[in-house]
Amino acid sequence: MDLKIVGRHALVCGASRGLGFACAEALAANGVRVTLVARDITDLGTAAKRIRARTGARAEIIGADLSTEAGRDAVLQVCQAPDILVTNAGGPPSGDFRKLSREHWIEALDANFINPVEMIRRTIDGMIEREFGRVVNITSMTVRVPVVDLDLSTATRLALTGYVAGVARRVARSNVTINNLLPGTIATERVKQLGDMARRLIDTVPAGRAGTPAEFGEACAFLCGASSGFITGQNLLVDGGLCSLTI
Ligand code: NAD
Repeated sequence: MDLKIVGRHALVCGASRGLGFACAEALAANGVRVTLVARDITDLGTAAKRIRARTGARAEIIGADLSTEAGRDAVLQVCQAPDILVTNAGGPPSGDFRKLSREHWIEALDANFINPVEMIRRTIDGMIEREFGRVVNITSMTVRVPVVDLDLSTATRLALTGYVAGVARRVARSNVTINNLLPGTIATERVKQLGDMARRLIDTVPAGRAGTPAEFGEACAFLCGASSGFITGQNLLVDGGLCSLTI
């Protein structure tokens, strides 16, 4: 399927590994020039090299902490007019809700709510002017089915879901779409490290297995395609059917 996005430019956040990397790679494989952002410049260099080798596409890197305003300023100074924005950052830690302090909440909100909201706000007018824009936010299956002790993740991502529900409709006339992609048991390194907890969850997936990062990346690229302009404001699960069993 030709996504008709050859020559477009994508800014992909949290892209040194895992799901962000998979999205960047799938976009690059469709002829998109990608700019990868993460905190660790060495990991980013390795990721960009891998993308160039596998796809032949241009892959640039910016080292920045997207949970800070200074980090976002640094990124947007270099990458001012992306056609495609994939927002992402590491997920907040799990824990007993009684132990969550204001500081925990601020940290989670900075990374998983303010970060995507600000990145959208600061890039979307360019997309509107050019009458093409695709935003994909990597959120979580917990938006559909909250998981005990993942309250920082669930609450901050639901805040973003609410924000997108309004803003996506506000910009839809300009061929600018905003969608959320909800991963569930996609076998990134981070999920593999969760060990028994992840294995137990994967055992309940109707598809009978964990998802691959590549499958998630392909779904992201599809939403960024020129022909996906009529899909907006949606929350798309990539979870092998897991959540539909429980709601
Ligand atoms: P990961 O931890 O492997 O990768 C996160 C990426 O974001 C890395 O490149 C990291 O360097 C970068 N990053 C983290 N914080 C950053 C910051 N402040 N500024 C810039 N870059 C930053 O995670 P993953 O498994 O790829 O998952 C991606 C997101 O999806 C996470 O938020 C995770 O909680 C969520 N999620 C994943 C799954 C799954 O099945 N893998 C399920 C539910 C939710």
